[in-house]
Amino acid sequence: MALELAYVVAAVLFILGIKMLGRAETARRGNVVSAGGMLVAVVATLVSGGMAWTWIVVGLVVGGAVGTVAARTVQMTAMPELVALLNGSGGLASMLVATAEWWGQPVGSPLRNVAIVLAIWVGSIAASGSVMAWGKLAGRVPGRSVRLPAHAFVSVALFVASLAAAVVFVWPLPSGLMALALGVLVVTALVLGVTQVLPIGGADMPIVVSLLNASSGLAASMAGFVLDNSALVVAGSLVGASGFILTDIMCRSMNRSLANVLFGGLSAAPSGSAKVEGDVQPIGMEDAYYILEAAANVVVVPGYGMAVAQAQHAVRELAEQLEANGAEVRYAIHPVAGRMPGHMNVLLAEANVAYEQLVEPDDVNPTMDTVDVAIVIGANDVVNPAAREDAGSPLYGMPILNVDEARTTFVLKRSMNPGFSGVQNPLFVKPNTRMLFGDAKETVTALVSEFKNA
Ligand code: NDP
Repeated sequence: MALELAYVVAAVLFILGIKMLGRAETARRGNVVSAGGMLVAVVATLVSGGMAWTWIVVGLVVGGAVGTVAARTVQMTAMPELVALLNGSGGLASMLVATAEWWGQPVGSPLRNVAIVLAIWVGSIAASGSVMAWGKLAGRVPGRSVRLPAHAFVSVALFVASLAAAVVFVWPLPSGLMALALGVLVVTALVLGVTQVLPIGGADMPIVVSLLNASSGLAASMAGFVLDNSALVVAGSLVGASGFILTDIMCRSMNRSLANVLFGGLSAAPSGSAKVEGDVQPIGMEDAYYILEAAANVVVVPGYGMAVAQAQHAVRELAEQLEANGAEVRYAIHPVAGRMPGHMNVLLAEANVAYEQLVEPDDVNPTMDTVDVAIVIGANDVVNPAAREDAGSPLYGMPILNVDEARTTFVLKRSMNPGFSGVQNPLFVKPNTRMLFGDAKETVTALVSEFKNA
């Protein structure tokens, strides 16, 4: 009774915490409230009795040590990779818990077996898929769509094999046969996670990362049914539901259906992006300053390169200089800029940029032609006009920030290299674009100095 009551308290704290995450001002507190809920659930479970303390202490020490070292040493730019690995760990844990539960007590109702199958299947796909996502984010696996020979056939065969194994497992059979089915289920699901994520490239990775996160939640809630633990069912369901809502939001903002993201890479390949031809026009610091000094309306577009350069504080300083000079400054945030949902919002909040200055593509695009200067800071895919103009491009159809329509566009980057999707960017050769080559932080700092020394 006391345990169930504690679980109810934990569930209420989870829900309150998630609600608080919806607003920038309360998000930090929301995190603490949800973590408090998890603490209540864990402590209540531990004191409820019947624990194998040795293993719990070993798990706490090893897991706690690995987690602490990973969280303390991770570079801000590697956070998305860490998040992908954490998603994968959640899936792996659910898969192991469900397997161990069945091992300890092989005989159970078909309903329990369904929960075991789902926890193992979804958990395994989330685990191996997340490792692939980590590889793509970390540059260890090509970020573009990768197709193996007979890829679609292999994926369908794996799906059919795991479905057959699941049916065999759910049906009450001798435990030897069930163990065999379970082995097939784990192996096929692990490989399926790899074959599903490998062909996803271009700009669709954020949707996949969000879906894998939702899947790890779903697997956890299934593990909760297996363990008959209502706190785990609630926590897993919340992660799953919020993850699926985020996935849906991202699909809408990328103008993609989920089916297109998941299976598009298996069918017709985009014919390849057009080669970009034209003259690149670099600009010097002093000339860039004169253009900015005359601007009344400036839009800053941050991207992954701002995170790499850790330029967010310098960017805020530049905006302050522009405002002191009488310009209106807004920050246009694309939903998939950076390498994780909300990446740019987090960096700009860290630099104390006011939330009210952030605008979304739909707010700023209709009036982009009235913007004097758009400053693109380490963004590339999210401002690539090929998404509008080139039907053969893997980015085609993705809504972008139309900075090519601004009166002048500055692009701050180090080279002519493409962004995450590997697609060439015709923005760089548009007549109103000026390239400011170099590390974003150094370039922005130099522009700030121009204002200060003027
Ligand atoms: P991109 O990856 O398209 O481009 C980043 C640009 O930053 C590069 O062109 C690079 O050019 C430049 N850059 C890197 N380091 C520096 C530096 N130190 N100084 C200046 N420039 C630098 O980034 P976007 O934000 O435009 O787009 C995000 C991409 O990542 C999308 O394709 C998205 O789908 C994908 N993605 C997003 C996720 C999310 O959840 N947000 C998750 C997974 C993938 P150069 O090397 O020449 O400097």
